[in-house]
Amino acid sequence: MIFLEIKILKKNDRELEFIITNTTPQFANVLRRTATEEIPILAIDTVDIYENDSIFYDEVIAHRLGLIPLVFKQDQFNLPSECKCNGAGCPLCQVVFVIDKKGPCTVYSKDIKFNNPDVSVLYPDMPILELEEGQKFKAEGTAKIGFGINHAKWQAAKAYYRYYPEIKVIGKIKDKENIIKICPKKAISFKGDELVLSDSCNLCGECISASNNALKITSDGSKIIFTIESISGLTAKEIIKESISKLKEQAKEFEKALEKV
Ligand SMILES: [Zn+2]
Repeated sequence: MIFLEIKILKKNDRELEFIITNTTPQFANVLRRTATEEIPILAIDTVDIYENDSIFYDEVIAHRLGLIPLVFKQDQFNLPSECKCNGAGCPLCQVVFVIDKKGPCTVYSKDIKFNNPDVSVLYPDMPILELEEGQKFKAEGTAKIGFGINHAKWQAAKAYYRYYPEIKVIGKIKDKENIIKICPKKAISFKGDELVLSDSCNLCGECISASNNALKITSDGSKIIFTIESISGLTAKEIIKESISKLKEQAKEFEKALEKV
């Protein structure tokens, strides 16, 4: 039996990068799609603007509000479609907010006041609009749980992968220094005559031209560098863990369906 191997390259709350060995591009892709489309997060969904004296159109402000990442407790909310209120809206599936500001000032994301103390903005200093002397902005609305597959504002993360590169010397290398210098990712070095490639290579191929085709970069899809960047209130680790639970759930559903066959 062949087991997946994972080696972590980068780890912080917002970003996780790792190498998966003994895998396939299909597995990496299903993980990518699940992380970007199927992890429910909270985002502003409706807004009623009562007063807007600023030069910004209501639609522009509403769009900006929708894209502000929110921190929330995952186990506190139901999906609107699965809630007792049948999607009509209640404290179990949505949170209400107000913004009430008077110029001169910049209205920031931290000026959004939610009626749930566990909900807040991830970045408090995101500017939304400017108010001049005497101008007012007043709005209220709701944030709901949703999925990235329905709208980008509910996208939990950006996720992408690339094949792990292997480098081969297939000719005579004349100018080592130039090859090292030309690599935009500084991924190439030499140990004596042996060429060493680091994980940061993005297969751009600059070194191949610089070596007059004395080098060849190959990759076979069984070793993949996977990167996930959170663009929501969840951490990158939470998103990847939940993606794996989703995949397990789907496999179980499939198993159940097979039993009926
Ligand atoms: Zn509800």
